[in-house]
This record gives sequence, structure tokens and C-alpha cells, in this order.
Amino acid sequence: VQRNRRRKRMLLDIVNRFRESAMALPDATVTLNEEGDIVWWNDMARRLFGLKSPQDLGQRIDNLLRHPSFTRYFQEGDFQQAVEIPSPVHPQITISVRVIRYGNKELLLVGQDVTRLHRLEQTRQDFVANVSHELKTPLTVVSGYVETLQDSEIGQDPRWRRSLEQMAQQTERMTAIVDDLLYLTKLETKAVPLRKSAVNIGELLYSVRAEAEVLKKPELAQFKFVVKADEETWLLGDEAELRSALSNLVVNAIRYSPKGGEIELSWYRDGNVGKLSVTDQGIGIPEADIPRLTERFYRVDNSRSRQSGGTGLGLSIVKHVLVHHDATLEVRSVVGRGSSFTCIFPGDRLQVAANEIPAVKDRYR
Ligand code: ADP
Repeated sequence: VQRNRRRKRMLLDIVNRFRESAMALPDATVTLNEEGDIVWWNDMARRLFGLKSPQDLGQRIDNLLRHPSFTRYFQEGDFQQAVEIPSPVHPQITISVRVIRYGNKELLLVGQDVTRLHRLEQTRQDFVANVSHELKTPLTVVSGYVETLQDSEIGQDPRWRRSLEQMAQQTERMTAIVDDLLYLTKLETKAVPLRKSAVNIGELLYSVRAEAEVLKKPELAQFKFVVKADEETWLLGDEAELRSALSNLVVNAIRYSPKGGEIELSWYRDGNVGKLSVTDQGIGIPEADIPRLTERFYRVDNSRSRQSGGTGLGLSIVKHVLVHHDATLEVRSVVGRGSSFTCIFPGDRLQVAANEIPAVKDRYR
């Protein structure tokens, strides 16, 4: 009996020590049973989530954390990622919440105060937006004067012509960068979920191709644009954003195919998803660079891309637009052979074209 008693005391001790250490964890920790009822929480959870003993014991967690993002996260049950919500008791605090399954179908909910990170991110966004905005006016003035000089007598002087040309080129590039940065900021700050209207992607493909052809740059003559579109399938989304993403992909296809060749734009339903892809026969991308392409200012080959007049922001824009549409980007490429960029949209955004429409193909011929 005595040995048993001693064993019991020892076990109790261990349990208490575990509780104490869990209690002292700097992250909010809540244990839930299979149904999502609250079983236990630590001190930080009391502070961040405002849990009160004993009335919250046994309550369902989604009755207490009522933010729509959390409700959706909890109901969907895919806990791979965390979700960010404001604290229900201190709205100025942002908490990153993650649920982890453990033991016998129990759930562990961990919440981390990410207010500082969140603020930093906000400051970064504001900073980029302000700088870009402030640069716009001086750039307009400079490029205006450069143009005037080019048209004047000085511009005809062979000593000046080359310099003025370069000044014009560089101000044009800076303007493009500033415009792209401003557009990215707009995409970042735009509240998702975005307005959903059915976009006729087939039509979009033909019109982007028409735009590319209208550019009529001599070097475009080497390209053959092929469109393959399923015009019956439309996509719920924001047409302006989708057009900008598609144009960026097409411009890249042209830019990184020095020898010309075929550029294929296609849109089709593949099982449960919609695939929009742009395929070129250009220089291709080394395997190792592919995961980093959508980072801002990331370039596979710095000198070549700069020469090509890119801003380094095109694919970041594409990625943002895709995030807004719950879509992902798949890049396949073989160096020297070409690349294929495919945007994959979830099935719930696809719609069968509502009424008979004249084939878009014909309107763009
Ligand atoms: P950039 O304005 O420099 O083109 P992007 O964000 O659009 O910036 O693209 C990032 C980098 O990815 C480019 O600098 C280029 O090296 C590479 N890249 C993008 N599209 C293609 C393509 N179709 N073929 C080969 N390389 C590409």
C-alpha cells in the first residue's frame, strides 16, 4: 500500500509539473476534445482569448472564437496552416492560431501573438506605397523634359543623342517599376473576397493576343501566337486582375524567347480544375530557380533580365492575383527548350457559360 501511495504521489507530481510548464508557455494553448469542446487552457490563452474559468470549460471553441476566418478554418478541418485573427478581448492584438491533432483525436489549439510582425508588414506596405507614390511626380517631370530635349536641337546633336536615349529608357524603366509596385500594393491591400463575376477567359485570351499583335514591334513578327480556349467554361473572378496576370505571362514569354517561336495560350477544364497556361519556346529556367520566381525582384539571370527591360515584379503580380482567386501557379521548364506557366483554378470558380454567345474567336479575326 505504501509503495502504491508513493507511486501515486510521484505520478501526480509529474502531471503537476507538466501542467505548470504548459501553463507557463508563452503561447496560448488550449486543449479540446474530439468535438471541439474546451478541456483545458493555459494562462496566455486566458489573456489572449479571454477564456474564463469555470464557465468556458466544456464550451465549443468556435462559440468563443467567432471570427469568420477561424470559423471557416475550424469547419474545414485542414490544419496545415495557421490562421490570423484579432484577439476577441483586445482587437488591436493579432493572433496566429493553429490547431494540431494529437493523441486520441484530441485537438491542441496554439495561438501566438504576431501583432509586431503584423505591424511591421503593414509598415512595409505603407512605406512601399508612399515611396512609389512620391516618386511618380518627379519621374513624370524628368521624362517630360527628356522628351522635350530629344525633340529639340540638342537632341539632334550626335554628342547628346545617345545619352538622351539612355535617359529616356531608364526613366521609362523606373516608371514601369513604380507602376508595378503601386499595382502590387493595390493587390495586397485589396480586401479579399473579391467581387465575383463570370469572366469569359476564352475572350480574354483572344484579346490579350490581339493586344500583343497590335504592339507590332518588328521583333514580334517572329512569334506565332496560338490560342486554344474552352469557351464554354467561364471563371468567377476579377477580369482586370486576370487580364493583368495574363499580360504579364505573355510579356515574359515574348521577352524570354529571343529566337521567337510559338507562344501558346490555353484555357481548359481538367477534371475538377480550370487551367490557364502560357507556353513558350524560349530560353527556359533552371530547375533550382523555379521556386523563387515569384519573389519580388527575383531574376534568374540579372544582366539578361535587366537588359530585357523587365521590372522583376511581373510574376509577383501574377502570384498575388492567383492568391485572390484561390489559385496556384505551376511552372515547368526545360533550359533551352521553353517554359510553361499554368494557373490552376479550383472547380468552384468554374461556370458553364450561361447563354449562347457568338464564338469569340470570330470577333477577334
Ligand atoms: P521580369 O520583369 O524581370 O521579367 P518577372 O517577375 O516577370 O520579372 O520574372 C522573374 C524572372 O523569371 C525573370 O527575370 C526571368 O529570369 C524569369 N522568367 C519569367 N518568365 C520567363 C519565361 N517565360 N522564360 C524564361 N524565364 C522567365
